[in-house]
Amino acid sequence: MEFELIQKFFMRRSQHSHILLENGDDCALLTSNQVLAFSIDTLVVGTHFLPSMAPADLGYRALAVNLSDLAAMGAKPMAFLLSLTLPDINESWLAAFSQGLLHLADSFKMDLIGGNTTRGPLAITIQIIGELPPDKALKRSGAKIEDDLYVTGKLGLRPIRPVPRIEFAQRLLDLAHAAIDLSDGLTQDLSHILKASRCGALIDPDLIPGTDYNYGEDYELCFTASAENRDKIKELAELTQTPVCIIGKIIQEPGIYNSRTREAIAIKGYQHFT
Ligand code: ADP
Ligand code: MG
Repeated sequence: MEFELIQKFFMRRSQHSHILLENGDDCALLTSNQVLAFSIDTLVVGTHFLPSMAPADLGYRALAVNLSDLAAMGAKPMAFLLSLTLPDINESWLAAFSQGLLHLADSFKMDLIGGNTTRGPLAITIQIIGELPPDKALKRSGAKIEDDLYVTGKLGLRPIRPVPRIEFAQRLLDLAHAAIDLSDGLTQDLSHILKASRCGALIDPDLIPGTDYNYGEDYELCFTASAENRDKIKELAELTQTPVCIIGKIIQEPGIYNSRTREAIAIKGYQHFT
């Protein structure tokens, strides 16, 4: 794409002192005395979104799904890079896309520090960078036997513009043991925590908020925490206006079981290659 168009739609003054050199050179330069968290996600037309999706929604969503990964780690957003593959140059499309994208970026005080633009079938890749205090990340491997098992929000809604649980998750660092974001469906995503933590879960399906918890694309959080932090987590949920529910607990026996019937619950969810 013409450099002028990149400049027009995607280049802005950086808002942060940790950006030593902003977008526009061969690399951006940033500095931090914290632990850095990196994640990357791609949205491909026809696979992850319909061609009819409004460009402003698409810009929002491409960043929101990446913010969801930072939230799942408890990381604070810093900056991101944008790789755009476009079938053609459409200025009104770019204006709406960048508005949806950069408005969300501003609300989390994030800088767009670089990118790449190529021609081809519409696809958007964002690499996000966050920061964390040392030894604090909410890893998938951190769940402990007897932990309460939580989910945020309501499942099955699959919002076009999911709200990343960033502030809640950062404050959860001292209260929770493990977390994951719900992109592929509750049982499948939960099973990643259970495998990494070598444990299982008892859940009460009647306690799961919402309709179908195995659709995926909710971008809510699933996390585990010691029962002694129940009151603090409830307070934090109110403070940050984040709905939370305890849906079960962590047990030693691998697998997911219905806490009422003790029957195994099948692991289902979105499969990327079938
Ligand atoms: P190079 O040839 O060094 O890879 P480019 O010509 O691809 O550089 O890009 C020029 C500058 O514009 C770089 O600083 C790059 O980070 C930035 N850039 C290119 N595409 C985008 C984009 N889609 N969003 C944000 N910045 C971009
Ligand atoms: Mg380049």
